[in-house]
Amino acid sequence: MMAAKGNAFSVIMNAQKRKLADGAAKTTSQPAKKGHWSMGLLSSMEDPALKVESDDKVVIIKDKYPKARYHWLVLPKENIPSLKAVSSEQLDLLKHMHKKGQELIDKTEDAKHLSFRLGYHAIPSMSHLHLHVISQDFDSPCLKHKKHWNSFTTDYFIDSEKVMEELEKEGKIADKGSRNDRLKYPLRCHVCKKEQVNMPKLKAHILSHIAKPGDKE
Ligand code: AMP
Ligand code: ZN
Repeated sequence: MMAAKGNAFSVIMNAQKRKLADGAAKTTSQPAKKGHWSMGLLSSMEDPALKVESDDKVVIIKDKYPKARYHWLVLPKENIPSLKAVSSEQLDLLKHMHKKGQELIDKTEDAKHLSFRLGYHAIPSMSHLHLHVISQDFDSPCLKHKKHWNSFTTDYFIDSEKVMEELEKEGKIADKGSRNDRLKYPLRCHVCKKEQVNMPKLKAHILSHIAKPGDKE
């Protein structure tokens, strides 16, 4: 009897765990409720400590847990949960988001010796569409885990230009959920492509690739 009870209990618990795992993967079948951590970008858009600038269409904020020396998020004011909800109607908006991100890079003195990328995660963890604008030094204490690294240095990170091109050609953005496995790829330097044994070694290694002021004009 106990075994039967135990089995029923584990069936329920496993179902519960599966539900939680699904929630953590943020599938879009059930939108997260207001106040849920995955909705945090919405409140950050209003946070003067994070807000960098805004216009009639977008707000730019500092990423609260920056994974590089410069890491901003460009968010539309329009309520768009993710790239899945984007159609050709939003192409001009995506172009505008890219332009605003690029303008911010251009205004950054350090951009003379740092390179930047603008792009989207294949499977975003946070709700509300956001374009990452991130310097490629990855010199930040918030960059801790393999999944952080691989989310910005494999094709889990999709360049904004590619996204706009796909939208222009196809009228929508195909689901990129199958790229989840990229997060488990071996650690590899994004510059010289050498494999690194662990995060501390990787973090020490990538510092050698950061140009010093004056190296490049
Ligand atoms: P993504 O994986 O594309 O959804 O990335 C979400 C980004 O939002 C990450 O770079 C996080 O560091 C950042 N982030 C998480 N919570 C907040 C928050 N409340 N305010 C601002 N940025 C956040
Ligand atoms: Zn390297």
